[in-house]
Amino acid sequence: MVTGIVFHKEYLMHEQSPIHPERRERLAYTFDQLREEGILDSDLIKIIEPSPASLEDVLEVHTREYVNFLKRESDRGGGIIDMDTNIPKGVFERALLAAGGAIRAAKAVMEGEVENAYAMVRPPGHHAKPYIGAGFCYFNNVAIAVKWLLKKGFKRIAILDFDAHHGDGTQEVFYEDDKVLFISTHQIPLYPGTGYPWECGSGKGEGFTINIPMPPGAGDEEYFLAMNEIIAPILKEFAPEFIAVSLGLDAHFTDPITGLALTAKGYAEIMKRTLELSEEICNGRLFVVLEGGYSVEAALPYTNLGVIAALAKLDIRFIREPEGYESELFWKKKDVRQKVLSNIEDVKKIHRRYWNCLKS
Ligand SMILES: [Zn+2]
Repeated sequence: MVTGIVFHKEYLMHEQSPIHPERRERLAYTFDQLREEGILDSDLIKIIEPSPASLEDVLEVHTREYVNFLKRESDRGGGIIDMDTNIPKGVFERALLAAGGAIRAAKAVMEGEVENAYAMVRPPGHHAKPYIGAGFCYFNNVAIAVKWLLKKGFKRIAILDFDAHHGDGTQEVFYEDDKVLFISTHQIPLYPGTGYPWECGSGKGEGFTINIPMPPGAGDEEYFLAMNEIIAPILKEFAPEFIAVSLGLDAHFTDPITGLALTAKGYAEIMKRTLELSEEICNGRLFVVLEGGYSVEAALPYTNLGVIAALAKLDIRFIREPEGYESELFWKKKDVRQKVLSNIEDVKKIHRRYWNCLKS
């Protein structure tokens, strides 16, 4: 059992501004922690260096107009896409390397080089739409990797998006596609303002987009509920040949820009269960792509450690939480359970017509 970590030192170089939440310390601190815990020297881990995605692969997801625009603005430097997303000089090449990292993770699993893989990339991707980047994202890394797998002949692929924000870009790429099942858990209300249960795909893709909104305060138990009640049964029924995870770590309770309440151990447990599902359904073919997560010191190092431990089947009981977390969680999670149960019922009501497993 070997888990691949796809990483390139260029992932530490991308910076929009020193005070932007999506900053290089997100990965730098994580790597310090992994080194300290001896993870990087373990026989169970293989560090894999990616190469940039080809333009051909990017154009499977993004329009030529947008790709040309981003290249031009990136060469010049100083442009903007939206309020949260600048175009620093050279971001085009770094975004290609991030997309290439997601493809490399998928390839390493496909070819059996590793059992599963985690692409620890920056900049993130899941808000990037075919025609424009958004919300810290330039190219949609996970979508580009999934399109790459489809071109390799895979017929059914599932994307699970656990970022605190709705993966609106990924949803849009595959909205009319019945070969790609997109399931997202995310906080509502929150940026980007989409991801309601009634957004469920259209045309051939109707029923293959599943949105599970989480109220502020939802944490480990509520996510496990969503996994047991909706994600696991639908995954088993869809029977994908490959599972991709868009892993945002911003649902952690210390995240400064969201209001959810997952713990590091909760994330590890979600990953453990996802791995088990992938083993049951698709020979363990699973790759993970990093999205958001902005609690740079209190959450990211431990959460990434937990996720990697779960993927490599190491003991996840030792994963630490910040001091005093019980009382913080108590107040955050107050009265949230009922709201989550009602959201889950809404999702089931809508998707009962598409999925037999939700009928009873
Ligand atoms: Zn996010």
